[in-house]
Amino acid sequence: MEVARFWRTKAQRYQLVGEECPHCKSKIFPPRDVCPTCEKEAKTPFAFSGRGEVYSFSAVYNPPAEFDKFAPYTVALIRLVEGPLVTAQLTDVDEADVRIGMPVEMVTRVLREDGERGNIIYGYKFRPVLLDHGREAARAHAPAHQPVPAMA
Ligand SMILES: [Zn+2]
Repeated sequence: MEVARFWRTKAQRYQLVGEECPHCKSKIFPPRDVCPTCEKEAKTPFAFSGRGEVYSFSAVYNPPAEFDKFAPYTVALIRLVEGPLVTAQLTDVDEADVRIGMPVEMVTRVLREDGERGNIIYGYKFRPVLLDHGREAARAHAPAHQPVPAMA
């Protein structure tokens, strides 16, 4: 029982779960039980791939107190490959290296620490999809509108 509960909790923590509209098949995140496209009821759970690209971003230098130890950090609007936009912190990247259209993937990271009780709050962040140097160089010289080849 304990093991089963652990795995269930873990699966929820590591997946980005939203909803899929049974009427028009729109993918919805965050879950809101109503489809923003056709405005019908949509309660079918849908697990997103966690992949997307940077749509816009900005650096945060003066965050709320509980995020202070992570400052400065970069918050981005991510366009998921399934369509929805998600706001999330970026991780494992310098702000100077962040670009619009950069491929990113979801990772689970410590989001903040609750100092009083010592609890550690986990959440999702996004990091760059690592490309080898050859692909990185090829991409730098490619016109911006060309799709980035999928990693093998
Ligand atoms: Zn719909």
